[in-house]
Amino acid sequence: MPDLFADFFAVLYEMPLLGVIIWSVLENIIIFVVVLVVGEWLVRRYSQHRVTEIPEPLSRTEILLAASCVFLNAVVTVAGVLLWQAEIIRVRFNVSAWEVLADTFILFFAMDLAMYVFHRVAHHPLLYPLIHQTHHQYENPRPLTLFVLNPFETMGFGVIWLILLVVYPAAWLSIIIYLMLNIVFGLVGHLGVEPMPNRWINLMFSRYVSTSTFHAEHHFDKAHNYGFYTLIWDKLFRTLSPDYTADFQAAWQGTRIPTENA
Ligand SMILES: [Zn+2]
Ligand SMILES: [Zn+2]
Repeated sequence: MPDLFADFFAVLYEMPLLGVIIWSVLENIIIFVVVLVVGEWLVRRYSQHRVTEIPEPLSRTEILLAASCVFLNAVVTVAGVLLWQAEIIRVRFNVSAWEVLADTFILFFAMDLAMYVFHRVAHHPLLYPLIHQTHHQYENPRPLTLFVLNPFETMGFGVIWLILLVVYPAAWLSIIIYLMLNIVFGLVGHLGVEPMPNRWINLMFSRYVSTSTFHAEHHFDKAHNYGFYTLIWDKLFRTLSPDYTADFQAAWQGTRIPTENA
């Protein structure tokens, strides 16, 4: 399997611009479709554990914003490949399992902190209407809401990611694992239902890992929960919602938003 990936990276490194563009667009469309399909399945599977009200019917604006987000994510992907071909971004191959593990942690926590800071800055009254208000128009998230972002916000996240790759030459497998984790956390945060079991918020490590309830709370309470993957920065900077435990337990018990069949 790693050989297959290594061959793929070798092809990508030599790929002409048109090929890079086509590959990036296809990759981002596939991610978009997988997120929606898996998300829809999870929403149905955990429908008895609602954190938020069932969202309003889908609007044209949401669809257009999501399409623009997928397009811009492809632009960021193209930029990343071109920067790598120009050796401004360096990717490490021939790495040990330990190096892969270490780099995955580094990318995960560096992005978690950088996005926490970016998110708090985006809530500043001067910047909020320009870059972040769009996402907050949807108080009751659904999987598609992950992509319903103002274009400036999509580009902001993309630029943070590319800067990290320029600054830190990461292992190739860590980059792939991180990108997959980023999609998983983004999807979970916008389910509107809580798939994690009750013990999640009590166990030693998992209690610091973000949940669906955690990000859903941010959609109806903009003053708390600015983190994405972990609760660490919200705990450290005292922005964690005081209702987090109660909301999580109520969602898991199915009493937060009682559904018809509950
Ligand atoms: Zn959100
Ligand atoms: Zn926000």
